[in-house]
Amino acid sequence: MANALEVRDLRVSVGDTEILKGLDLIIPFGEIHAIMGPNGSGKSTLCHVLTGKSGYETSGSASLDGTSLLDKEVDERSRLGLMQAFQYPVEVPGVELETLALEAAEERQIPDAEAKIEGAAERFGVEAFLHRGVNHDLSGGEKKRSEIFQIAVLDPKVALLDEIDSGLDIDAVRRVAGAVETMRSPKMGVLMITHYSRILEHVTPDRVHVMIDGRIVESGGPELAGELEDGGYEGLKKRLGISVAPARPAAKSASEFFTDTPFDV
Ligand code: ADP
Ligand code: MG
Repeated sequence: MANALEVRDLRVSVGDTEILKGLDLIIPFGEIHAIMGPNGSGKSTLCHVLTGKSGYETSGSASLDGTSLLDKEVDERSRLGLMQAFQYPVEVPGVELETLALEAAEERQIPDAEAKIEGAAERFGVEAFLHRGVNHDLSGGEKKRSEIFQIAVLDPKVALLDEIDSGLDIDAVRRVAGAVETMRSPKMGVLMITHYSRILEHVTPDRVHVMIDGRIVESGGPELAGELEDGGYEGLKKRLGISVAPARPAAKSASEFFTDTPFDV
């Protein structure tokens, strides 16, 4: 069987700036993988390029269940079974979450869509805002649960969760992590992006990858997240003997550049 997601030697640039510099990643069906990395290492760019956002030059390959992605339009990628939960979910006032889920499920020919929506709404605690505008005036944690709810309804083969924990308080992180854990399925591969290890206390990934400066520099089990918790990215870079120049002209020192901050800048 093909892997849920297979990325080989992916290089991505915008103008003269190379953001991803030869990235390899394989996520088998049934597994949850985490990518951790400092701000600016290219995590969101990876999601954007996989889902088909325009404006990037790419080389290398990416395939979903054996079908090449990079030559496809955004909607084709979606129909192949790719979904992204956004780092910053967009508010769509006037379109009820239930309507969006129902129309999308019908378009994707999901059987028993109404029952599935009802079940997922209960499971992910979105009933209270099912009849409100998509993400409209929701709290950070509610927005993230709304994204996961949509993924659960639409059953993608690959779910990309970009910073599903950013901006959430500790209880919301626990709740969102629980929701991710219940998405585990032999028919899906999940890529969960974070730059904190705290969410990994509540969801146990099969593999943890560390991305620094556009490359996966280390992969391992959940214990890798523990190493980062203890020594930070600087400690890991020291162990691996990596010295990384900032992608842009250095206005800051390399250590400042890689300092972990709560939000992407
Ligand atoms: P992360 O999600 O790991 O914090 P990003 O993928 O958002 O990192 O960004 C990686 C680097 O690429 C950053 O230095 C960012 O400024 C740069 N970058 C991302 N998109 C663009 C773009 N469209 N044009 C120029 N630089 C970009
Ligand atoms: Mg990001």
